[in-house]
Amino acid sequence: MYQFERRITAVIFDLDDTLIDWSGQEIHGAAIGQRHLRQVYTYLTAQGHALPDEEDFLDCFGEVLVRLWQQAKLTWAGVSLAQVIAQTLQESGLGAHQFDMDELLRVYNWQPVPGVRPYPDAIPTLQTLRQQGYKLGLITNAMQPMWMRDVELETYGLLPYLDARVTSGDTGYMKPHPAIYERVLNMLAIQPAQAVFVGDRPENDIAGANTAGLTSVLISPPHLNYELNGIKPDYAIERLSELLPILAGLEVRSG
Ligand SMILES: [Mg+2]
Repeated sequence: MYQFERRITAVIFDLDDTLIDWSGQEIHGAAIGQRHLRQVYTYLTAQGHALPDEEDFLDCFGEVLVRLWQQAKLTWAGVSLAQVIAQTLQESGLGAHQFDMDELLRVYNWQPVPGVRPYPDAIPTLQTLRQQGYKLGLITNAMQPMWMRDVELETYGLLPYLDARVTSGDTGYMKPHPAIYERVLNMLAIQPAQAVFVGDRPENDIAGANTAGLTSVLISPPHLNYELNGIKPDYAIERLSELLPILAGLEVRSG
């Protein structure tokens, strides 16, 4: 009788356009954050702070957001929402004030983006992987703290399946920087060779997983078409359920 020794013990996912489908998003770009920043604006003006006109304040936020992400991508540093808000306040003339950033982040009141949904096979696939004994993780290049994105995961019913989760905003590094993969590998108490990483962006998800020593799986949802630019995923799939036979094939037969 053969025994199967499992080499892969964890599956780590990207979030956006991997577990959740942005093809139907009803709000785009900086407008996603601006609708939440309005609540911060209202809160600060109610406290008596002199702010620019609301639309100028929102425009400033949009500009700061783009600028800080562009700078961060030069070194794959992680931008945090707290940094973006602090810089926006500074450039709006409120730099000398001390703000309770945790409070401002609560007032920001992050919510799921209208029109975004989990892929239909996301929960069934996570359920099966969990039943098969895999540890599950998540790494997202997002400026929000993880607790904010957990609000979405909870709404979509994904939260209970994901044991270890990080955002680039919390970590200070974004994919493909190896440090963000190492963070989750440490949380899961595993080595890189024990993990599969699944994501949709070759230059972030796949290049990073390859460098960090994980087995990489590129998922290509129908509404996206990224160039590989020479980056080679170990596997390529079109839907999450295709992971199951790949993982079965990675089990090592011994004995
Ligand atoms: Mg993605």
